[in-house]
Amino acid sequence: MAQGRRKLIAGNWKMNGLHQDGLDLARELSHRSVAAHRASGQHLPCDLLICPPATLLITLAEALTGAAILLGGQDCHAEVKGAHTGDLSAEMLRDAGCSHVIVGHSERRIDHGENDAIVHGKAAAAMRAGLVAVVCVGESEAERNAGRALDVVAGQLAGSIPDGMGAGTLVVAYEPVWAIGTGKTPTVADVAEMHAHIRNRLDGQVAAAEQLRILYGGSVKPSNAVELLAVDNVDGALVGGASLAASDFWDIARACR
Ligand code: PEP
Repeated sequence: MAQGRRKLIAGNWKMNGLHQDGLDLARELSHRSVAAHRASGQHLPCDLLICPPATLLITLAEALTGAAILLGGQDCHAEVKGAHTGDLSAEMLRDAGCSHVIVGHSERRIDHGENDAIVHGKAAAAMRAGLVAVVCVGESEAERNAGRALDVVAGQLAGSIPDGMGAGTLVVAYEPVWAIGTGKTPTVADVAEMHAHIRNRLDGQVAAAEQLRILYGGSVKPSNAVELLAVDNVDGALVGGASLAASDFWDIARACR
């Protein structure tokens, strides 16, 4: 475990999961967690977080009572309440049983035109509500090919993260847009370079940056998890597709050292 940072494996279910499927998946993870503890007397060497669709949050919060699995939302509005049809506030997510919320995922940045200022407002809302904000950053393929990846991510960090955040309120997820859902991943050297860059950039911007968890996301699966999770400054993973199968998500969690 790097510098005492416990790894975090987070599952982003995106827009997947009707009631029974979601319940079955959460229960399977919960059973595995309890069984592993009984068998070895030890918990996983990482924290587990699942971020299901909002329709499942209250059901899963009840189903996971007593299980060592955290619950998160996939997005929130910056305001506490008001005339924002279709949106959820960070306070509502907290009320539904969440401890975390993803903000600034590239699918929100692209599909909903969310820029850094909007993500900044959502991260501030998470902090206000007592949630940990999982702030996503990452370059497009064109930006990487143009040699701009480090600068793009530095700009996103500066623009998306409010003052006053620290390891207790913030997790950063580096997700190269071109690696999400494509089966492509950056080289280990590129991941190491970017994660060191993120920690350096955040030193001074957030409190105790050395304690901050920086996740890698983009086509993480059981077959590449050991290699990716062993990279310096990779403190866990944000997992999309592979989080929808309990066995794959579990195997990724077991790849933590
Ligand atoms: C994601 O959407 O955050 C993600 C990392 O997706 P996938 O693992 O499917 O690439």
